[in-house]
Amino acid sequence: MSDDKKEPIVKQDKDGQGADSGSQELSQVDLPPALSVKQLADLLGVSAVEVIKQLMRNGVMANINQAIDFDTAAVIAANFGYKANKQAVPVQTKPSATAKGGKLSPCPPVITIMGHVDHGKTSLLDAIRQSNIIASEAGAITQHIGAYQAEVDGRKITFLDTPGHEAFTAMRARGARATNIAVLVVAADDGVMPQTVEAINHARAADVPIVVAINKCDLASANPDKVKTGLQKEDLAPEDRGGNTVMVEVSATTGEGVDSLVEMLMLESEMLELKANPNLRARGVVIESRKTPGQGVTVTLLVQNGTLKNGDVVMCKNDYGRVKAMLNDVGSRVENVLPATPVEVLGLQGVPESGEEFYVVKDEKKAKTLIELKQGQRRKDKRGGSRGVTLEGFHDRLLEGSMKELKIILKADVQGSIEALQQSLEELSTDEVKLESVHSAVGDINESDIMLAVVSNAIIIGFHVKVDVNAEAIQKRERIDVHLYDVIYEAIADVKAGMEGLLEPDENEVFQGRAEVREVFSASKIGKAAGCMVIKGTIHRKDRVRIKRAKETIHEGEINALRRFKNDAKDVKEGFECGITIKNFTDIRTGDIIETYIIEKIARRLEK
Ligand code: GDP
Repeated sequence: MSDDKKEPIVKQDKDGQGADSGSQELSQVDLPPALSVKQLADLLGVSAVEVIKQLMRNGVMANINQAIDFDTAAVIAANFGYKANKQAVPVQTKPSATAKGGKLSPCPPVITIMGHVDHGKTSLLDAIRQSNIIASEAGAITQHIGAYQAEVDGRKITFLDTPGHEAFTAMRARGARATNIAVLVVAADDGVMPQTVEAINHARAADVPIVVAINKCDLASANPDKVKTGLQKEDLAPEDRGGNTVMVEVSATTGEGVDSLVEMLMLESEMLELKANPNLRARGVVIESRKTPGQGVTVTLLVQNGTLKNGDVVMCKNDYGRVKAMLNDVGSRVENVLPATPVEVLGLQGVPESGEEFYVVKDEKKAKTLIELKQGQRRKDKRGGSRGVTLEGFHDRLLEGSMKELKIILKADVQGSIEALQQSLEELSTDEVKLESVHSAVGDINESDIMLAVVSNAIIIGFHVKVDVNAEAIQKRERIDVHLYDVIYEAIADVKAGMEGLLEPDENEVFQGRAEVREVFSASKIGKAAGCMVIKGTIHRKDRVRIKRAKETIHEGEINALRRFKNDAKDVKEGFECGITIKNFTDIRTGDIIETYIIEKIARRLEK
């Protein structure tokens, strides 16, 4: 019995006990009356960090080992597309069984390749694919679907074929965590370059382990040692230098070292103990999507949990559809797709964006209801104000206990300024507040910086730089707090003030109305009253006023009374007459202009 027809999102479900382990009801999950954040994450097949983030969005601050009650857990489960059922017995500390209908089984790692342009990301992906095509598929024509799977000694490994940290971060910014390990490609003849550092910081912000591929080792000019030294400066030290970062010397051109790299990736992923539950309804992330004439919409999905089946109804943020056909990375039709496997799907109506999450739901009607519900929720969230961290709001969050460190992305025109700023800022750290630099680099603030700020909850500080044109729109959309300075001292003073809650928001004067004094009456009780005509806007009783005579301001203050005929009025619009008396001001004369305004407090953004 699973009459969830009218229950798009579960809150406190009391009657959902009857779901059996049949494949139709698999998006349900049994939750105990209380469980830890970690346990909930395990049961949902997502990371604890994701659960903590969702909790924060729902106003609950919890750490990984903290216990949360069923009602809270059910709301979080719903955010991940699961319907929660209340279980009578508490879950064991190390759950062996996950959501209804099955146990967790190991699943392949999903790998993203990152690094500086021209260091060989695409070539390396090709080389790995060439030497590791799944045996049964040898000879098949490979097609680009944005991801592929390779096989080594019977073990599978999935590569996202969208190199570059932009794709990686764009996905994360949309809430997806599609990568388990990042391969950082550094060309041995070129060394650590700006995008290498960016990639490192993006992977770190995502808490994704890094394996380094030192590429182009076939070249005479290759200098792997120099690369290692460069990486050490970024706190990535190889094992032979006392660190714990795996570094493999390879050549995408000759294929040398590629097998060892793949082997290392396998080892690294074994340590991560990646698991998923193939018995659930599928859930995952959109890798790519496109519309082709004649064929309709083709979407590459990466299944992250559960099994995707032909005929399933898939829903994304705004789009849904019934899966008509599925093709794997070599173009063969498939019926079922297991966790950590990419697949090209036909049947969706719209074109979802990369990084959107997808869920399998019961039927199309349910997909439609859920999408409408989520759209409504998003509209509400949007009205809910700023989503990013701001320097002004930081102190409040600190007091609330929802934030203990201020994360900063630093951009400056020269390296020297970065170092000076970084040092001074780090010195501001106290026992209660830690200042952490997530990323710093020379150059204007670019899209990548904004995305990194989104995903790592950071503010951006620029010194002698600007926000570049492409980044501006995303900055506005994502409401990222950017502060630009020309004087180091000011930057430090502001951050300090922000930490202490002393950074006052800017005040912005907003014009309301203008009235011209046409006559002056002496009213014994209230002094002088001005008979006015509103010539622009609207005068409100509560507005602040400024009185101008011959273009000069002669008084600023408040309205005492605003009248239409003999009655008090709340406001008087343009084109109407009114009587105004001003608090503590009696020298009003015919011909004076009364201007009214309000003060709007806006978060300070020192963009120049
Ligand atoms: P990406 O921008 O990081 O994707 O780099 P590409 O894969 O497009 O490679 C950039 C250039 O480096 C191309 O001309 C490749 O042929 C060359 N290249 C890539 N890997 C190697 C390598 O291992 N050895 C040599 N000699 N050249 C390489």
